Amino acid sequence: LPEQEAFDIEYWLLEEAKLQRMPKPKSLAGRVAFVTGGAGGIGRATAERLLGQGACVVLADIDAEALKAAHEDFAARYSADAVRGVQLNVTDEAAVIASFAEASIEFGGIDILVSNAGIASSAPIEVTELAMWNRNMDILATGYFLVSREAFRLFRRQKIGGNVVFVASKNGLAASPNASAYCAAKAAEIHLARCLALEGAEAGIRVNTVNPDAVLRGSKIWNGEWREQRAASSNLQVDELEEHYRKRSLLKLNVLPEDIAEAIYFLASDASAKSTGNIINVDAGNVQSFTR
Ligand code: NAD
Repeated sequence: LPEQEAFDIEYWLLEEAKLQRMPKPKSLAGRVAFVTGGAGGIGRATAERLLGQGACVVLADIDAEALKAAHEDFAARYSADAVRGVQLNVTDEAAVIASFAEASIEFGGIDILVSNAGIASSAPIEVTELAMWNRNMDILATGYFLVSREAFRLFRRQKIGGNVVFVASKNGLAASPNASAYCAAKAAEIHLARCLALEGAEAGIRVNTVNPDAVLRGSKIWNGEWREQRAASSNLQVDELEEHYRKRSLLKLNVLPEDIAEAIYFLASDASAKSTGNIINVDAGNVQSFTR
């Protein structure tokens, strides 16, 4: 090679190597995310995924102890300035309004809502008490409505669009045995997300849903009576459930909180800029209409 050309190539290779070594820009730098149920299994994994991509995260959860633990952990491993913990009951209208106002003042706005806080409790319809029905509807359907409404109000004031991700459930689409209250509430969330996608589109507000199949590990829901209810409904022992869900999936894998967090991150980021009103099922390939 002529001397100049050889020099140019070497120079270019060095520049290229330098670029490779440079840290990649974080895709959510400068964004603020409000994550309900942020101290639980899926919510905490989601908060971690978003923090890792440079977002500031508001962890909103009713469980003060779990919230403190998550907040301290993230503040130590990321930055104390990037994370805030708010004790919040998503069924409390006044508290939801106040928590959005406070968080948006503190961080100078909110860009992303991950509506995820939830419980699961169900029984055969004949023995489903009104209180059980109402609990599912209040925390799931109404809770998702209340936080979405605040996010929409704020997004419209900010005039820079916005992003909402619902964590619903496969049970909102597929009937699960003896779980009508939970399934109906999850179906309400899924349809609420579609309606909001329609309402928000013109203002650049995207609304999408992630439907997890059973995520046993790390989930507080599965520590309680839900595990026994699900096992009884499938004629299984409680310690057989994880294997049951794994075998039922096409990929023969259990779904983990991190898998759900990855789908939420995709929907919350610009990588999904042209998706709204959509659903991502994270279920390792569970195509059954009935999840028995
Ligand atoms: P989890 O119990 O580990 O986390 C849920 C969090 O929500 C908890 O930290 C809890 O304290 C909080 N929470 C409950 N009620 C609240 C309220 N009224 N206000 C504020 N926070 C409240 O459970 P998870 O598995 O991480 O579930 C997260 C979401 O995923 C739920 O909406 C659940 O229905 C959905 N989901 C879970 C599974 C699963 O198998 N784990 C499957 C499908 C859908």
